[in-house]
Amino acid sequence: MNSLELSSKSDEELNSLELEGKTFGVIGVCGIIGNLVARVLMDNGYSVIGTDMSNEADCRFKDSFDNYDIEIFYGGHPKTFFDKIDYIFVPPSLPETAKVFDFIHENNVTILELGDIFKLFPVKNPVICIGGTNGKTTTTTLLKHIAYSGDITPTEHNLKGMQGNNEFIPSLQTRLNGDLSILETGTDGTPGGLKSILDLTNAGYAILTNITPDHLDKGQSFIDYAKVKGELVQGIQEHNGTLIYNADDPTIIGLLNHLNYTGNSISFGLDLDSTDSTGYKPCWCNKDIEINEIISGCGRFNCDCGIKYKKPDYIATNISLKDKSFTLISPDDQYDFTLAIDGLHNIYNAVGAIIASKVFLNLSNDQIQKALSTFHGADGRMQSMGEVNGKKIMIDYAHNPAGVQTILTEITKIYGDSTVVITVTSESGSKGDFEILDHALGHIKHIVPASHDSRIAAEKLLNLSKENKVAYDYNYLSDTFVFTPTSPEQKTKSTLGASEEQVITGLKSALKTDVNLIICIGEAAFKFSPAIKSFCENN
Ligand SMILES: [Zn+2]
Repeated sequence: MNSLELSSKSDEELNSLELEGKTFGVIGVCGIIGNLVARVLMDNGYSVIGTDMSNEADCRFKDSFDNYDIEIFYGGHPKTFFDKIDYIFVPPSLPETAKVFDFIHENNVTILELGDIFKLFPVKNPVICIGGTNGKTTTTTLLKHIAYSGDITPTEHNLKGMQGNNEFIPSLQTRLNGDLSILETGTDGTPGGLKSILDLTNAGYAILTNITPDHLDKGQSFIDYAKVKGELVQGIQEHNGTLIYNADDPTIIGLLNHLNYTGNSISFGLDLDSTDSTGYKPCWCNKDIEINEIISGCGRFNCDCGIKYKKPDYIATNISLKDKSFTLISPDDQYDFTLAIDGLHNIYNAVGAIIASKVFLNLSNDQIQKALSTFHGADGRMQSMGEVNGKKIMIDYAHNPAGVQTILTEITKIYGDSTVVITVTSESGSKGDFEILDHALGHIKHIVPASHDSRIAAEKLLNLSKENKVAYDYNYLSDTFVFTPTSPEQKTKSTLGASEEQVITGLKSALKTDVNLIICIGEAAFKFSPAIKSFCENN
């Protein structure tokens, strides 16, 4: 469901409601929407009483009510609940046949729906949305870190374990108390979803990190996927907002051309003397565009169709990976920044966050630098797990070809010989599993395919090379691939990829390689990071 399908009362009806001093009953406060709506009502000064069919022990997001004064009835909707309330909120997930509607009608209570909540409680504070394929989480987490460090309090959904890109989470979160909202806006690829978030949150700022192939199932082409990501740009244009975008990405430049974007914008990029990596991705003209790459999918480019690199408004130069430092030249000034996190991809993430800190948070370079010094990365992004036999162990959430290549390239640059444990099952099927290997090869010393699907892809590649049917040399592949003792079984059809046991088995095989660092990548590596951490502590 998206906002377009939400029903609501007319403005006239809503204006005629007497809300002053009234008590709201909220059904389903243990669910995402019920929880957030209850808190939105309380943050707007109303008394709220909640109910939920579940028991208190099973109420997943109960902790988020810790600082609120709310009475909750668990296990059903008792008569005392109806005696106390003037209005009732029912979540959209509640079927029309639910028995609670009988009670509501018997007690003659006015029902408010989600669409009514959005109209009654408009977003009060500025909103920035962070979108793109890779780097969203780091950029969002860093920008929030800078905000807190500058005594600015962003709204928080406080729903433990939720990623926050379900469309109603940002839309309700922006209606909670806080100075402003910093939102990571993902999409499952469904057209309309992202635009609806922009409309419901009334976002005036956005950062677009990069657009690279990912989640390309359902026969969707890369350019179709880019158009879905482009809803962020359309939303900003319609709201007269400001778009902060990565100008080193030809897909983004093509998108802005395609949409005839004429709104406010701030572009950014990196200035590197030389790069020796050439990459390709589909261009808007249907040909492949050649990129002299800085990170996978971003760099310098010039296509016959007119899509070509242009120097951005903000450019990071004098880049030292060793010192994690760079000079950021802006239209008004220049400043030497130093990060506490590694890698060129993180310089992109940091520059996006720095620009937003200047124009959206109104902070000075010195204030921003102070915060950068204490930011050690988002969970699951180049996150250290410990050390075994003198080898550093890390995890990273990377799960699409560009993300994988970027991480492995940066890791090798910084730590030298390294081994990757791939726990991914690609969302794009076997073609995607193959592309992930293709993007890993040449950027890392050894590869342990630890998920069922990456193992299948690696074995297939090895067989094809034996018959000279692929560009890879058989001996090179045999040296690079390190297989676990037994072939991993198919444990899950979802994107999780590998089981906890398969991740640890992969790590054990990786420990037999002669390298300085082992990085486990994919959703499973992230999910099972506690097991990886305890493995490191006990070995
Ligand atoms: Zn082109």
